[in-house]
Amino acid sequence: MTEKAIQSLAGTEDRLPPQWTLWHRLHRAARNQFELHGYGELSTPIIEDARLFIKGTGEDTEIVEKQMYSISSSEGEEANNTDERITLRPEGTPPAVRAYLEADLHKKQKFQKFWYAGPMFRRERPQKGRLRQFHQIGVEAIGGSSPLVDAETILLADAIYKEAGLSSCAINVNSIGCPECRPKYRQILKDELAGRADELCPDCEKRLDRNVLRILDCKEKDCREVVDDLPPIPGLICDECTTHYQILKDALSAQSIAYVEDPLLVRGLDYYTRTVYEIKHKALGARDTICGGGRYDGLVSQLGGPETPCVGFAMGVEATLIAMEAESDKSVSQPNGIDVYVVCFDDSARAKCFEQVEALRSEGLSADMDYEERSSKAQMRMADKTNADFCLLIGELELEKNEVTIKDMKKGEQWTADWDAAGEEISSVIKA
Ligand code: ATP
Ligand code: MG
Repeated sequence: MTEKAIQSLAGTEDRLPPQWTLWHRLHRAARNQFELHGYGELSTPIIEDARLFIKGTGEDTEIVEKQMYSISSSEGEEANNTDERITLRPEGTPPAVRAYLEADLHKKQKFQKFWYAGPMFRRERPQKGRLRQFHQIGVEAIGGSSPLVDAETILLADAIYKEAGLSSCAINVNSIGCPECRPKYRQILKDELAGRADELCPDCEKRLDRNVLRILDCKEKDCREVVDDLPPIPGLICDECTTHYQILKDALSAQSIAYVEDPLLVRGLDYYTRTVYEIKHKALGARDTICGGGRYDGLVSQLGGPETPCVGFAMGVEATLIAMEAESDKSVSQPNGIDVYVVCFDDSARAKCFEQVEALRSEGLSADMDYEERSSKAQMRMADKTNADFCLLIGELELEKNEVTIKDMKKGEQWTADWDAAGEEISSVIKA
């Protein structure tokens, strides 16, 4: 019996060569917009001290409670010491803040804007668009308290999506207040919900005491019905938070950007203050958020730095790609063809053909040939399949005369050229 081949882990994905077109389109759009908006690139390690997330993301969050991949950083007895664990990063925000503090950037220039892109790891139940290794593109504007910075990050995410070719995104915004007003309205929500605990799902029943806000985020149908009867958060926040929210909304409206106020929107992570937002796309089904963000004024001080207001977002790359695929013309995901396919008509000419391929490449043309000793007919079929613009036909006759036959695959024309002039000839036709 043959052994079953080892397969990839649940919730992880391979990305094969034809699957990169939209990926690169998204990343190119992001890079371009980061440059236009003045965000500098930041890269942090994939592994971090587990305490960064326990403290930063928050002990009560789903991520820290259930989703982190952690291992001991020491061996033997010491391995049980929970203070010494390293974690595959589940998100990019606490690492960005750690890097900012570790490089003492707050002492040089408090307000700085960063972007990052890379893999994140969470032990989630794998499903459409939900993976255990997934990718995020994110920004962190560290040190700015103005609601105009909140607006900038939302407009930036929107500009990236527009440049990447997405047109039917929905932007939802809300304000969840600050440490001053949140305890008061949290109590109001608790009081409202106390009498209806039996209508909530078991998780939310527990959340009633521990983190009542998270109930607003629950996707269970019964909980949604209870939540729909609650007073909207923006009616309960303090005057400063209300003003902050109003300036943000005015800045968005001034840009004629379509957004919806969602008074029940909260975000899953503990560190958010005031502004929270999500960008959704209907191609994703029930879990339709492709980008989530907001203000997190408490995180820097929580990680040992000075009081520093911040705002940022994280885009789910795989989720965004599902949206892009749904919106894009299928033909665009076809990779571009190569410039030249070299067809060998005589087996003894293969080494010479290879020299020609290398010469073409060194002249900046993408070129390829057959390495499987196929017939010339099969090689012509490969040239078609690889969508080559030109073929070089090389046989006994060409070798004898030190020539090549060039075939323009689009026009169907063919002519001969000197062996050493093939690249130059083709380049001049391409440029013409
Ligand atoms: P969500 O509520 O959508 O799970 P979150 O609050 O847990 O998000 P964020 O870091 O804010 O976590 O997520 C930002 C975006 O990253 C999400 O909207 C989603 O598109 C994407 N994302 C989050 N978790 C995963 C995952 N396990 N697999 C794929 N994409 C993910
Ligand atoms: Mg989540």
